[in-house]
Amino acid sequence: MTSSFKRPDGRKVDELREFEAKVGIVPNADGSAMYRSGETIAIAAVYGPKKMHPQHSQNPEKGTLRCTYNMNSFSVSERIRPGPSRRSTEISKITEWALEPVLMLDKFQNMVVDVHINIIQADAGTRCAGINAAAMALAHAGIPMKDMVSSVSVGKLDKTIVVDLSKEEEDYEEGEGPTDIPISMTHSGDITHFQLDGKIDSKQLMEAVELAKKSCEQIYEVQKKALKDSIDLTGGED
Ligand code: UDP
Repeated sequence: MTSSFKRPDGRKVDELREFEAKVGIVPNADGSAMYRSGETIAIAAVYGPKKMHPQHSQNPEKGTLRCTYNMNSFSVSERIRPGPSRRSTEISKITEWALEPVLMLDKFQNMVVDVHINIIQADAGTRCAGINAAAMALAHAGIPMKDMVSSVSVGKLDKTIVVDLSKEEEDYEEGEGPTDIPISMTHSGDITHFQLDGKIDSKQLMEAVELAKKSCEQIYEVQKKALKDSIDLTGGED
């Protein structure tokens, strides 16, 4: 990939921000994880499976995944109003859609698996960070899964395709303006979530999806390592 475009933080076009993952950080939850990309930090905590209340919301065919995304008031410099918003409702829904395809919920009829995602610091890419943390927290909670899900935002800035946009890049208004494409995919390469904000032609879109695939591979390796590290292989002995 060659380009003369300079990213504000000096990253290469295909370079993720510094990122890390940790599993098992909320002791009271059935499963939990943290995912950080640059200045964006997401924490996910899983509770359940437990009986769904109220009863009329129960699904007798399979368990229900219920995700709640919340960006904390103090996560950005301009304090945001606490509580649900249209944006948080949308992101909660797309998080469910991104994760449901890998979950084997058929054994959990009439039950619910609750996933609470908290963004404690935000610098763009929070929905992707939340999905990465939630996927690990679900695995940590022992919810049967067919595959892992990894998520990243790719985009087009001044005709150049880049990965993992920072807030400064999302606000870049040169040329045609920024295009932001959050994508989530399984390790086997199935796309479970795709959003597009802005304009892009089909050739560059293919390039963007390829870059997302390559980046999700790197994220998957870090998620896998965090999950492995959370398992006590000594069986509790010193
Ligand atoms: N943001 C903000 N206030 C808000 C919503 C968003 O400052 O009320 C910032 C925050 O840094 C967020 C970024 O704008 O990460 C981009 O938000 P977007 O809705 O595009 O979702 P995200 O990229 O976080 O998934």
